[in-house]
Amino acid sequence: MPESAIMPRQDNAQDFPLKPRRFKVFTQRDLDRIPQLQQLPESVRFEMKVVSSVLPFRVNEYVIDELIDWSRVPHDPIYQLTFPQRGMLKAEHYERMAQALRDDRDKKAVNELAQELRAELNPHPAGQMELNMPQDSHGNRLDGLQHKYRETVLFFPSQGQTCHSYCTFCFRWAQFVGDKSLRIASSEAAGLHDYLKHHPEVTDLLMTGGDPMVMKTKHLRAYLEPLLQPEFDHIQTVRIGTKALTFWPHRFVSDADADELLDLLERLVKAGKHVAVMAHYNHWRELTTEVAFDAIRRIRATGAQIRSQGPLLAHINDNADDWARLWKTQVKLGIIPYYMFVERDTGAKAYFEVPLAKAWTIYRDAIQQVSGLGRTARGPSMSAGPGKVEVQGVTEIHGEKVFVLRFVQGRNPDWVQRPFFAKYDEHATWLGALKPAFGDDRFFFEDEFQSLQLVNGVAIR
Ligand SMILES: *Cc1c(COP(=O)(O)O)cnc(C)c1O
Ligand code: SF4
Repeated sequence: MPESAIMPRQDNAQDFPLKPRRFKVFTQRDLDRIPQLQQLPESVRFEMKVVSSVLPFRVNEYVIDELIDWSRVPHDPIYQLTFPQRGMLKAEHYERMAQALRDDRDKKAVNELAQELRAELNPHPAGQMELNMPQDSHGNRLDGLQHKYRETVLFFPSQGQTCHSYCTFCFRWAQFVGDKSLRIASSEAAGLHDYLKHHPEVTDLLMTGGDPMVMKTKHLRAYLEPLLQPEFDHIQTVRIGTKALTFWPHRFVSDADADELLDLLERLVKAGKHVAVMAHYNHWRELTTEVAFDAIRRIRATGAQIRSQGPLLAHINDNADDWARLWKTQVKLGIIPYYMFVERDTGAKAYFEVPLAKAWTIYRDAIQQVSGLGRTARGPSMSAGPGKVEVQGVTEIHGEKVFVLRFVQGRNPDWVQRPFFAKYDEHATWLGALKPAFGDDRFFFEDEFQSLQLVNGVAIR
């Protein structure tokens, strides 16, 4: 479709009262240029420099000016979501990097130390690199694709390997720190389309990143528009994972190609696809600005759905009332709550982790506060090697206190919805730390999963 054929969207023409905001971003080099940080003690700014020498840091002016409540820093959830904190590094790692900066070591030395420390942070949890990389018909690895669950293919477009801001807990952080060997990305629309053509069992395409909404619409269109051809009829659902509704809602409202983007979504919907914007939310405060509301309204007007997902995190959202308020706000705005995740074991995990027992209590207490339309949120769910495992509850069976667990997604579809039991453990934060209940020595899926790993020659937590 030629550019000229794209008409301005009706809903934009009259009711857009906001002045377009220019996208302005700050990274580690610009820490001293953020006016609000000048109010904080010098020692805190130094800590930020140390931590952001190891973990990626990027924040934009909209987040700083309109989402963070600076009177509540350091406890403000959006501040914790975007600004590096000392506790995000292990004490020993922190000290080594702090010393390097105090000694004014050169850039090369600081970079080498950063690489060394990053390597210890489990850059690719749950076997992302080894087990999920599909191959084309000639046995070549297809970069930028993951095919873990039969019906869903994940695609990582190379132009979407960044975000409008970075979350401090991000498990994709390895992709942002510039090490190409840690990156999962593809610039090959042809590779994607070829793979989908040859895999009729795939019904869902999930565009992910980074954040695919960082891409220009014309790039997104190159990936998605061909799916309107009949040979892609089996692709019923197109999901786009994004945090732009939080970090840069202007993407859907006032950016130069915002209208084109909405037209693209609408065209997919009209052609019969289910289009779902998988919006990453952590806190109801992300849903308090006019531009965020506008963006949601405009996306929904295309016929696309918005579903929400996000991890449970200490220092940000580890209480039931904030989750209940988040889900209620979402339902009111027409967003469908989808997942509460358990934070994965990578990056700054120790700072953010919440024990599974506490996670389940928070989930239950939040769910109890919302109506049925908010109870579409599943969780707490761990995206582990064998699949997505949900903590269904804690109970006592024959005098033994246990976790009741189930797969909501499994590497073998046969595992899905089979309840299984683990010994209760107040401190466990991940599937790998759990032991089977009732004296069993293995969980029901472990032998099969292990043989899968042996085939691929890797071990996965
Ligand atoms: C979560 C996830 C999916 C999608 O699973 P749904 O249950 O369909 O939402 C697909 N692939 C991977 C690797 C995932 O982690
Ligand atoms: S938006 Fe997603 S990919 Fe981007 S930094 Fe946050 S968690 Fe990571």
